[in-house]
Amino acid sequence: MQDESPTSPSSDTDPASPPRREFKARGSFVVRCEACNLPRLNCLCPYRVRAESQTRVWLLTHPIEQYKPTNTGRLIRDVLPDTEVFTWYRTAPDERLLALLEDSRYAPFVVFPDDQEGYAERVVGMDRVIERQKTGRIPVFILLDGTWRQARRIFRRSPYLATLPVLPLVTDRQSRYRLRKAASSDHLCTAEVAAELLRQAGDTRAADVLDDYCDVFNDNYAASRRDAKPAEPTPAMRRLLAARGEEAEEVGEHITLSERDEQQAN
Ligand SMILES: [Zn+2]
Repeated sequence: MQDESPTSPSSDTDPASPPRREFKARGSFVVRCEACNLPRLNCLCPYRVRAESQTRVWLLTHPIEQYKPTNTGRLIRDVLPDTEVFTWYRTAPDERLLALLEDSRYAPFVVFPDDQEGYAERVVGMDRVIERQKTGRIPVFILLDGTWRQARRIFRRSPYLATLPVLPLVTDRQSRYRLRKAASSDHLCTAEVAAELLRQAGDTRAADVLDDYCDVFNDNYAASRRDAKPAEPTPAMRRLLAARGEEAEEVGEHITLSERDEQQAN
C-alpha cells in the first residue's frame, strides 16, 4: 500500500514552485530542459501554446503521481494557465482548494465514473455544466490525477468532494497515450480526459491545442527513451509551431528561442 501521508506535507504543496526533483532512472545523465524537464533533445517548450477556455480545470494530484515524468497533468497547466494544481493528502486538505470550493464564482464538478456504488443521486451530465455556465458561473472540472486506485481513494476519502456533483466522462474516444501500459485503450490519460471535457463543453480550440500538445509530449517522450529526436515534425507539432507564429522547419532555432523565453519569464 502506498503511503500518501508524508510527515511534512507542506513542503510539496506550493503549486507556484513545481517540483524539480531529479528523476533518477536510466538517462539521468542526460541534460534536461529546466522548464519542461525533458531531455534538451526532446524539449517540449517550443510547442507550448496557451489557449483560452470558458471552463477551468483543477487537478487534485496524488503525491506519488506528481513526480512521475509521464504525468500529463502538467500539460494541462501549460496550455491553460488558469489551471490549479493541488497535491492531495488525506489528513491535510489544501486550504486554498477548500476556499475555492466555497467561492461562488465557480461551479465545480468532480470528474469520476458513475459505475460505483453510493452516489447515484449526485451524478450529472454535461448539460448541467452548460446550464451553470449560462447562469454566469465558471464550470470547473476537478480531475483526480493518479492511478485508478489512487483516484478512487481520493474520491472516497475527501469529505470536501462529497457534496459536489459527479460528472462521468462519457466518450468513445480511445487513448493515444502510449507511455504507460493502461488497462485498456479506453483508459485515457489525465490530459486526454481534460481535452475531451473541454471539447464537450464547447472549448474546442483549447481542446485541440491540448490534444496536439499531448501528442507532441507522447512523441518526444517516447523518442527520449531511445535517446533520439522524433524523426520529423508531426502534424501536431506543425500546428503548434504555426500557432506560435514560427516555421516548422526551424525546430532547432525554436528551441533556442524558447529557452530565451523561459529565462526571461523566470
Ligand atoms: Zn523544455
